[in-house]
This record gives sequence, structure tokens and C-alpha cells, in this order.
Amino acid sequence: MKLNEEKGKEPFIPERVARSIIRVPMKTRTIPPATRTNCYLIHDGGGWLVVDFGSPDGSAFSMLDEAVEEFCKGWKNIHGLLLTHHHDDHTGGLANWLSRFKEPILAHPKTIAQLGRRLPASRAFPLADLDRLGNLEVFHTPGHASGHIVVSSGEGDLLCGDLIAGLGTIVIDPPDGSMGDYLASLARIEARNFDRGLPGHGPAAPGLSLRIRSYRQHRMARDEKVLAALASFAAPATLIEVTERAYDDVAPALHPVASRSALAHLLWAVERGLAARDEDGRYRAI
Ligand SMILES: [Zn+2]
Repeated sequence: MKLNEEKGKEPFIPERVARSIIRVPMKTRTIPPATRTNCYLIHDGGGWLVVDFGSPDGSAFSMLDEAVEEFCKGWKNIHGLLLTHHHDDHTGGLANWLSRFKEPILAHPKTIAQLGRRLPASRAFPLADLDRLGNLEVFHTPGHASGHIVVSSGEGDLLCGDLIAGLGTIVIDPPDGSMGDYLASLARIEARNFDRGLPGHGPAAPGLSLRIRSYRQHRMARDEKVLAALASFAAPATLIEVTERAYDDVAPALHPVASRSALAHLLWAVERGLAARDEDGRYRAI
């Protein structure tokens, strides 16, 4: 299927991206360079599900409304909202949904817990790893968020939320974000050999497994840099000291953001027994 998109360019109009999948790119308060979060409409064999609804704005709802009318023959054929994870740029439309529709909100129990009072228990439908929804299959892929899930269309496409990004990078922010979990989730999905990823931000990712492999290599290269930086200190080092050495290729102005990633690598090193965190919060190699 020919798509109105170029590699690295952000989609901006609703369009059919597969026989059973419509992409609706909504303006959201997300992380630059992305300015939008892709909402998807996916047919499960019996009806349509909305996947991620990231904007509280009326204009975003209008865009979704028009797409539902054009591609799904109206809201009567929509039977739920599935959330890949709890972050605001994927759930910003939740209150809007709850006030307009009675269809359930499908999400991993950890996402439901994170949403707290934003999602009444009576409206939530918990999803577990390998759950099937008609033709669709759900995979629990923690790492970017502990309750992160991705959805297989059954036809080679994977709605991958923030597992990978068509634009920008994926932030792993502890404690809910976990580098060890993220790399394990990437490896698991890589091995399934899906044809194409449809991410939460930016254009589609053809050759998904190759893309994932390059993500894993990139993260492992950074992991080695973090471990080498840690080992280069004669005494235990603070998070920011490790960040400055391990991210010396990144502009210093971005070090506060990079330090969240550095922390994720350090905590993973502690989990693997390669580093220790002292009581004063400093890290040392073991
Ligand atoms: Zn996210």
C-alpha cells in the first residue's frame, strides 16, 4: 500500500495504512521532534478498536470522529479503546472518551493502576500477555513503561506504541522505565519477525526486526560506554558525573535528560551485579 509518508517525516492526515488499520495522527504534548501521537483504528475481525487517544483537545476528537465516520462506518462499529501505556501523550483523550462512550478501556493491569482515578475500575478491561482479541494478539512489552503492550494485527503489522519510534528516540525513565526489561522486550519482538511496525510517533517502520536489532545494538553500545565510564572513576561517582563521561557525544544542555537514560543503564548494571549503588547514591563498578 502506497502511503503519504517519507522516512523520518511525521504523518499528519488520517489514512488507511493496511486493509484493517487506519492511522490518525493527533497533535499532542509529546517529546520533540515529534508533535503528534498516532491514534490507530484497527479491525479485530468483529469490529474496530481505537488504539491510543492522546489529546484532550476537541480538534483531535473531531479528527478521530471524521476518521471513524469515513473508514469505520460510524461509532456503532467501535467497541473499545486500547491503551498501549499510561503516558499522557497516549491517554490525554481518556476523559473525553469516558464522558462520551460506554465502551471499555483495554489496557495492561499496570497501566490501569498507573492511571488511578483517571480510569474507574468499572470501565477498565485488563489485558494480559498473549491475550487474543479476535484476530489481534497482545504482547506485554515492559521497558518504556511497566505496563506497555503492543498489538499484532495478525496480518504482519505490529502496533508498537513507544517500543520503537518512527521519529525521535524512546525514553527509558526509571523507576517505571527499565532498561533490562526494554532490551528483553525488544529481543522478544525482534524474534517474532513482524513485517512492519506502526509506532506511536512518526511514520511506519518496514523491516521491523532489522529496526529493532539496530535499536538493541545502539542501546548495548551505550551500555558499554556507561560501564566503561563508571569503571574509569577511582572513587564512587554520582549519576551526573557518569552521565558527563558516558554521554560526551551529547550536548551538555541535554545531559539532564541523558541522565535519566544513564540512570536506567546504571540500575540495569546493578541488577546484573556489575555495579553497586552506595547509600549516598553514588555508583561504583564491581
Ligand atoms: Zn510513552
